[in-house]
Amino acid sequence: MLSSRPNCEAEWANPDPKYHRLPHTRVPWDKVWESLGTPISDATEERHWRKLLHRGTFVRNKQSDKSKPTVCRMIGCHKEESMLHIVMCQKLKPFWDLVFNFITTVIGDPLPPNRVTAIIFNMWTRDDLGSESACAFLRHAFGCFYNAFSKVDLEQKLFSTPLVFHKTLLSFRSAVLRYAQTIRILYLQRRYTTLRLKLPPQESRDRFKALVVIQETVYDFELTAAFTRAISNQEAALPRHQAQGQDATANPVAAGPS
Ligand SMILES: [Zn+2]
Repeated sequence: MLSSRPNCEAEWANPDPKYHRLPHTRVPWDKVWESLGTPISDATEERHWRKLLHRGTFVRNKQSDKSKPTVCRMIGCHKEESMLHIVMCQKLKPFWDLVFNFITTVIGDPLPPNRVTAIIFNMWTRDDLGSESACAFLRHAFGCFYNAFSKVDLEQKLFSTPLVFHKTLLSFRSAVLRYAQTIRILYLQRRYTTLRLKLPPQESRDRFKALVVIQETVYDFELTAAFTRAISNQEAALPRHQAQGQDATANPVAAGPS
């Protein structure tokens, strides 16, 4: 338990509709704070998501220069761009569709009842968060999303759903392989020593078994077939997507108020 509550807890609950908050959501904050940093999402990988949690994400309606546009930067979207809006924007739905599809088909979690609270707080039920893998994946996804989203304004780069999702998968893959490598190194360091009895237990090998298989005897590891397939499917989707010129689902600076 925290002795004094972080400000963002009250800020997310602000009932004034003009602030675009979530006053009717009861967030299991202690579980959220305890969940920061998983073996497959470190502080850097979680950075953008943690900023969102703390309400420190830069969005257009936070600009101090009031002459700047506050309308969402995604082309064709005319809503005000707030921290809540960026996870609800209809123009970004195809990206989150891919993310939640991966969570159900590869990680094996059920769909959360509310996507918005799943993305922001990683909530899966009223009182609980998603699995460790699902939480970690959403944090990677939000980080990759926000990187690309900020480039829409900073570098006038279109937001490409297939490319951003591909980056998300690669980022998650590195984290999962890093975890497996850590377990293997522990094994290699201990196998001929008196620490032999302290070899990484089955539960560490199985902790992310929907994502990576770590062998029992020599601790070799490889991504699961489902994870590998998701990556190759996404790779195959890249040139097709570009050929069809569909990446104009987003727009740059353009999007000022009309
Ligand atoms: Zn929008």
